[in-house]
Amino acid sequence: MDFESDNYDMRTLEDIKDEYTDDQRRRMGECLDQLVAPIALPDRKCAGGCGRILEMDVAQVYDHSGGWGLIGDVLKQWVSFRCECGYETSLDKLGVSR
Ligand SMILES: [Zn+2]
Repeated sequence: MDFESDNYDMRTLEDIKDEYTDDQRRRMGECLDQLVAPIALPDRKCAGGCGRILEMDVAQVYDHSGGWGLIGDVLKQWVSFRCECGYETSLDKLGVSR
């Protein structure tokens, strides 16, 4: 996947549906940036109990009716961040409400 159209330093979105366009992916990434930005570094913790701070540069994102409405023209998305330990910490565990 290439995102050469602008210099936005985009979070990688994994597991996302193939049909979504680069523009939709870019806007979802920007929305995610805004959701994650207010979370203080010490609070960006793996919820799996390993004690690691999540890197969060890769997000697992996929259609899910119980997820977050990131942008208006795609379905709600479940969002989580995979830790080195293998646990996936979802946005709600990081205190981001839907
Ligand atoms: Zn972990």
